[in-house]
Amino acid sequence: MDAQREWFEKDYYKLLGVNADATAKEITKAYRKLARLYHPDQNPGDDASEERFKEVSAAYDVLGDEAKRKEYDEVRRLGPMAGGFGGGGPGGFSFNVGDVQGGDIGDLLGQMFRGQRGRGSGRSSSGVGPRRGDDVTAQLNLDFEDAATGLTTTLYLTSDARCSTCSGSGARPGTHPTVCGICGGRGVVDDNQGMFSFSSPCRNCQGSGSVIQDPCGTCRGSGVERRPREVKARIPAGVSDGQTIRLAGRGTPGRNGGPAGDLLVEISVAPHRQFGRSGRNLTVTVPVTFPQVALGGHIDVPTLDGSIVKLRLKPGTPSGSRHRVKGKGITTTSKREGTKSGDLIVTVEVEVPTSLTDEQRSAIERLAAATTVDQRTSP
Ligand SMILES: [Zn+2]
Ligand SMILES: [Zn+2]
Repeated sequence: MDAQREWFEKDYYKLLGVNADATAKEITKAYRKLARLYHPDQNPGDDASEERFKEVSAAYDVLGDEAKRKEYDEVRRLGPMAGGFGGGGPGGFSFNVGDVQGGDIGDLLGQMFRGQRGRGSGRSSSGVGPRRGDDVTAQLNLDFEDAATGLTTTLYLTSDARCSTCSGSGARPGTHPTVCGICGGRGVVDDNQGMFSFSSPCRNCQGSGSVIQDPCGTCRGSGVERRPREVKARIPAGVSDGQTIRLAGRGTPGRNGGPAGDLLVEISVAPHRQFGRSGRNLTVTVPVTFPQVALGGHIDVPTLDGSIVKLRLKPGTPSGSRHRVKGKGITTTSKREGTKSGDLIVTVEVEVPTSLTDEQRSAIERLAAATTVDQRTSP
């Protein structure tokens, strides 16, 4: 479907449950909530949820991007085909008005862009020559363990992608684009208009240098199709909440032979009920008894992988003191730093019993009687 037509027909604000004047922050928040709710991982085999997830993703893909949102608002206000020259976000021709002294700019522009409107979002926003594809942003919610260990997951997003019918050539399968006969493949023509001369994009090929005689029916020759797609992504160990991971070349395909944009994965990490994180180090608080810290000994410490390690406490260990278990943090591997392991930082906290057996009570009373110096009141 033509992007503008689709925009005109779909109320993305309603899909995300926000007002039309919602701030970018409100939109992101609403999206994250819905994406979490309908994520296919949360609803395996539920087609309705998956459909909803894709709709919500498509809505955020537009409303979450300031430039696209503006364009969308315009299309919704004025109808399809009203959104300027393109449906594909930033780009387009730059034109130095100063060069056209006294000329009729509207007329010149009209000539340049004639025949371009309504040709589909991809082609209409292509500039002259190769153009890099847009970056695409996706959200990924991880639980604490997955963020610590890393994982390979599937991202579901709706964005411009290489047309699946023509593999991005824009030509009907079995046919090929031909070199433009007007500009000979340069994409520009030299115009002499009275007193000044300048190069302008070739009108015959819209600056691409090639002409598609028989356009692909799916993308109408743009080579780009807006569709839901799945991207396998390897998330490295040790990503943190709020971090953005760049997957090179996984964004929107380039135009006219330009490189593809990147996929930016915005990570949010859910907190853990037991463990915390500080960089590569994990933190955990372990309750201990007064005899354990007073007399010293070994205590059991849980680790993130579920195993238990022993930690030795010296006699007279203070409550609230911190202890290091080497290598039981998060292990990260990067080209720059190689493989590095963090530690587990254990805070011991003396638990004061809220009820005592008779035996415990008399033991503590004997301890109290034997304690001659009150640490709290001594200078
Ligand atoms: Zn196509
Ligand atoms: Zn041409």
